[in-house]
Amino acid sequence: MKTLTFGATHEPVLLAGIGNPNVFEGSMTLADHRALHGSPLPAGRRTKRSVEGVIGALQRDGVRGRGGANFPFAIKLQSIVDQRKKPIIVVNAAEGEPASAKDLGLLSRNPHLILDGAISVARLVGGSEVIIWLHHGSAALGVLRRAIDERVQEVGDISIKVAQAPDRFVSGQVTSVVQGLSGGIALPYVLKEQPSVKGVNGRPTLISNAETYALVATTLQHGADSAGHLLTTIMDAAGNRTIIETIRGTSVSAVLSAAGVSVTNEPILVGGYAGSWLTADRLSAAVVDSIVATEPDIRLGVALFAVADPTWCPVALTARIVAWLASQSAGQCGPCAFGLPATAEALTRLAQGVGSSTDRDHLVRWLPMLTGRGACAHPDGVVGLVRATGESFANHLWDHVNQVPCTSVRATYPWPSLEMPVPVSA
Ligand code: SF4
Repeated sequence: MKTLTFGATHEPVLLAGIGNPNVFEGSMTLADHRALHGSPLPAGRRTKRSVEGVIGALQRDGVRGRGGANFPFAIKLQSIVDQRKKPIIVVNAAEGEPASAKDLGLLSRNPHLILDGAISVARLVGGSEVIIWLHHGSAALGVLRRAIDERVQEVGDISIKVAQAPDRFVSGQVTSVVQGLSGGIALPYVLKEQPSVKGVNGRPTLISNAETYALVATTLQHGADSAGHLLTTIMDAAGNRTIIETIRGTSVSAVLSAAGVSVTNEPILVGGYAGSWLTADRLSAAVVDSIVATEPDIRLGVALFAVADPTWCPVALTARIVAWLASQSAGQCGPCAFGLPATAEALTRLAQGVGSSTDRDHLVRWLPMLTGRGACAHPDGVVGLVRATGESFANHLWDHVNQVPCTSVRATYPWPSLEMPVPVSA
């Protein structure tokens, strides 16, 4: 069983009241939640000034999308307001990245914070429909349904529904969400118009990640005290995860330490499976921000820090991850149908010591051809990981090209396909 525990580097806001660290009594009731966080934006007459005030506060406190894109939420909100039509509010809790568990953790411990944010936004923009989109069979489903039931009396004319997404890596892509909620198959498509203009069933739709709505709630309810807070997932080599609440600017070492992880020469995969490697020599300069380390750029993505076993071969591990990522596409675009499987095969040959400089040359030639060619950014992410491996482990990769025997290759790795972790109490 993979476990999910919780902690914080500072006084927590998002995880407040659910135990610090690792002490839990299950999910928070609405009464407990209200006692701690107060009430969300009240129902009432919306005025231009009230809307501008909220958007200004979200902008000032730097609330950004926490699904990986890091896009300023205030801009998204303004674009919905500009439509002057009744929008749909979608909470995207389908964490496609299997190693990330921050949204699952927050949903399973305090779904009310996420609901507060979504309901506040719906009231602000005149929406009457909130949809929570999460993976089919999510461990948080029961808790979420109970939380929604607790609110029956107070939500007034706002309906809250749960919609279950197929358990696939790309189900959380914005266009997959629009397509899935519009009655189609939840797969990405080429975006021609932003969902804020034409989204679910052609209506203006605000889609944001679950943690983002929680940040909206804490910003509106606690103001500047909550600015800069965010959740990270720390995963160990065995696949156990710890959700650490931290503040932008905190050192990555402090976040790892809060999770009880000490790093000597373990490489850390940052941002997600399609992320970048943070190697031990760069760890001391790395801080948690949209860019984790400046030399080279390592993006925060979904704020995953997956700590690899230092005895694992990074080429073989990357080959395993790329093969899995290739298997997760719908194969409906050229780069995914042909490019990713071929890339995975070349890397696997190199990892197994039966590859050659031809495989390396193929990779060098193919990677630029896969970039920016898909309907979504899935191939770009895979290309980024392969490049990051080449940059971070150049000598090791070169040894594989030259068929130097590698004793670090394992028959299997616990990553990338992981079972859902189970939240545990200490
Ligand atoms: S790029 Fe790949 S994952 Fe994205 S829509 Fe096309 S086939 Fe699907």
